[in-house]
Amino acid sequence: MIRVLVWCENKQNKTDDAVKAVYPNGMHNTIADFLNADPEITAKTATLDDPECGLTDSVLAETDVLLWWGHIGHHEVPDNIAAKVQKRVLEGMGLIPLHSAHFSKPFKLLMGTSCSLSVPGFFREKLWCTLPGHPIAKGIPNPVDIEVEEGYNEYYDIPQPDELVYIGAFEGCRVFRAGCAYHRGNGRVFYFQPGHETFPIYHDKVIQQIMINAVKWAKG
Ligand code: ZN
Repeated sequence: MIRVLVWCENKQNKTDDAVKAVYPNGMHNTIADFLNADPEITAKTATLDDPECGLTDSVLAETDVLLWWGHIGHHEVPDNIAAKVQKRVLEGMGLIPLHSAHFSKPFKLLMGTSCSLSVPGFFREKLWCTLPGHPIAKGIPNPVDIEVEEGYNEYYDIPQPDELVYIGAFEGCRVFRAGCAYHRGNGRVFYFQPGHETFPIYHDKVIQQIMINAVKWAKG
């Protein structure tokens, strides 16, 4: 079994009615639920509310792949905990930063760049696969059509991905490197752009399958 931890800051989940309407059980629980439906995965959750952000040494030691969703609370994650996550990735843990986790502390540590991008608005998105043989794209229709998502736009200040699996195309000729795979030390990182908190992205079966594939790839 692949031991997964779904980490979420769990802030807008509690305070924003638009987010609660989409994820009444919390986004992290929605993600853990569909991952747990896969026979090869066992998923737990952790949030900022937990002691040590739920990322104690023992929890990290027992995690094969960590998914990370954060937005307004990046600064509330202590630097020493972000450094522990970075160290575990270098030792072999997989990390999947989702959407606004492009600015999460562990991802920025692992990239070494600002990870900044531009956010021009909300648009229809098509995810185009740029590496059809990649395990993360296995069985996924091309393109993936997302009715409405927060548009991210280049330039995205990341190192060149080791494997660029998806490009997101948005209305208005906007493009974004939406699925970026990296090898860091013994670990694997997959940044995945879809997942704005007020849209039902993580209820989408195709997006779910990409994330299940990403977990299995990131396990190494
Ligand atoms: Zn967003």
